[in-house]
Amino acid sequence: MKQVVHTVCPHDCPDACSVLVTVEDGKAIRVAGNARHPVTRGFLCGKVAKYLERVYSPERLLYPMRRVAPKGTGGAAAFARISWDEALDEVAGRLKRASEEFGPESILPYSYGGTLGQVQGNGMDRRFFHRLGASQLERTICSEAGEVGLLSVTGAKWGVAPEDYVHARYILAWGANIHGNNIHLWPFIEEARRNGAKLVVIDPFRTRTANAADWHLPVRPGTDVALALGLMHVIVGEQLHDAEFLAQHATGFDEVRKRAAAYPPERVEAITGIAAGDIVRLAREYVESQPAVIRLNYGVQRSENGATAVRAISMLPVITGAWRRRGGGMTLSTSGTFGLNKRALQRPELMTTALGRPARSLNMSLLGKLLTDSSLTPPVKVLFVYACNPAAVCPNQNLVLEGLRRDDLYTVVHEQFLTDTTDYADLVLPATTFLEHKDLVTSYGHHYVQLSEAAIEPLGECCSNAELFRLLAARMGFDESCLQATDEEMIDAVLSGGEAVLSGITQPALEREHWMRLRLPLTDGAYLPFADGFATPGGKAQLASAAFAARGLDPVAEWSAPAESRQGEQASSFPLELLARKHDNFLNSTFCNLPGHQKMERRGELQMNQADARTRCIADGDLLRVFNSRGELRLRARVDGSVGPGVVAAHLDWSRGGAEESSPARNVNALTSDRLGDMGGGPTFYSVLVEVEKA
Ligand code: SF4
Repeated sequence: MKQVVHTVCPHDCPDACSVLVTVEDGKAIRVAGNARHPVTRGFLCGKVAKYLERVYSPERLLYPMRRVAPKGTGGAAAFARISWDEALDEVAGRLKRASEEFGPESILPYSYGGTLGQVQGNGMDRRFFHRLGASQLERTICSEAGEVGLLSVTGAKWGVAPEDYVHARYILAWGANIHGNNIHLWPFIEEARRNGAKLVVIDPFRTRTANAADWHLPVRPGTDVALALGLMHVIVGEQLHDAEFLAQHATGFDEVRKRAAAYPPERVEAITGIAAGDIVRLAREYVESQPAVIRLNYGVQRSENGATAVRAISMLPVITGAWRRRGGGMTLSTSGTFGLNKRALQRPELMTTALGRPARSLNMSLLGKLLTDSSLTPPVKVLFVYACNPAAVCPNQNLVLEGLRRDDLYTVVHEQFLTDTTDYADLVLPATTFLEHKDLVTSYGHHYVQLSEAAIEPLGECCSNAELFRLLAARMGFDESCLQATDEEMIDAVLSGGEAVLSGITQPALEREHWMRLRLPLTDGAYLPFADGFATPGGKAQLASAAFAARGLDPVAEWSAPAESRQGEQASSFPLELLARKHDNFLNSTFCNLPGHQKMERRGELQMNQADARTRCIADGDLLRVFNSRGELRLRARVDGSVGPGVVAAHLDWSRGGAEESSPARNVNALTSDRLGDMGGGPTFYSVLVEVEKA
């Protein structure tokens, strides 16, 4: 008998799609986007449309396995099957031994966006590691710098609803490849364009979104701060700013006026590569075509000055008063809207049971350093990886692998497949996909809370994240009842904060409705996040930030060249700026291993400008050595003009999938830097210099 089950895609994507799974005789036979969902609107991206290939892949991990070959050896032959009893005993024993010998902070949990579900990605794991007294993980690898920059101006991660993009008349996609990783915004943009809106893309790479836009401005990597200040120069200089909105809702405008005066278009052209005339035209069009909305994405903040860049860009809709109008303003993330009770979900007070104090925090972006730093006290002795593939996604891959190779490091990985990271795991535990467990999913691109039901039983001996940590808590002898809470109890906990936006949004209601829109405050039927003030302590947008000043940063925003950039201090040895990009049809390192997804991407290539290829006598298709002081890769030249002169681009992939003749296997992170950005502790994937030669 067939039935249709409501699930939600929890992958690291702003769209958080409502996914209908058709199940027959216990087997999922079809996945489809829910046509009734206001944002999903009946379709899925190319990644998840083929999801059953992932769920039923012959490569799925189906039972626990222990390493029987040297670390660094991958493939099923490197492991031997064991029972769950053996696996749990071994992990619990290792955790106890490390705690006794080195203290519980010698244990480092390591997870990120493998699932964004509240229960399976943010819940029982946190309770368990808090109770254990393990080191806390600063989850900085993706969005932290952007969050700092945005909050410094607006005070909250709120943004324009995707449905309201239809009202915009000017849409500025700034570092946002909407086609690649926010595809459910596209129909709203197309509707706006049918109504006369213009789509402008600011991006150093000619993305699919840039190809489809009305105007593409290929800004030099890491120069977005200067471009934003140049736009302010024109807007303020020509008296196009919204003086009334600024007087009512912002502080620091005089400081901005003075700063912007130092960024005339000619100077900004020299920094950004965007012609002065285009800067003037862009500024005028942006102000005069209201409502105007900026879709900012997280690429911009992955430079050394990334938080400052987001801060500067966030000032634009304040200065122009774009927030006044439906369809005007900016979206970086909507995640701050949801009012979740994270304390009830994660129970941070459990840390004091083990330690009598909060555990230390370690920055995930520095994994290589953390694992190889002999002065770290206590050293990391147990690494517990779940919902993440750090051997592939962390910067400075050679240092990360050096750390993972340590014989005295015990590494556990809870995963759906053998990955770059399991090549270094002592123990591998099989994980469920979202079709096999229950969860509550929010979003960073829309305003719907959704319940994701389990559509099928776990395959083989796969275990959900929440269940794994319940089992481990019992093995460790932890007797707090919250460590045995059911998934349903965890969902009730995270919805329990009493926030007005969650009023009436309960588990029984979600079981009926499947998704519910947040109870957002409306003005004439529209959600206008900052039309009547901002979420800062004083209620005003902070165009001059005391917090930035206290950290030694410019209180407004000032462009400075990333040290690792063509205009920076390290320009001489490696003259090309590398964009370490994501494939449109993979999601970070997820999906890279599936044949159906691989067919949709060109892999193992370095995209170059014709001028840079010519000076190096490189032709399309040549095998290249791409290198810097951190590592090297072999990639095939693709001389296609996707990037401007002085810039090259390569994609993130699994180490064994992307690069050619690269031994030992490496991916683009062999070249990226673990230097941190200006604020937020995030990595600088887009401040990377390399040189290229024929191999
Ligand atoms: S990855 Fe994004 S677009 Fe694709 S199904 Fe999941 S939420 Fe939707």
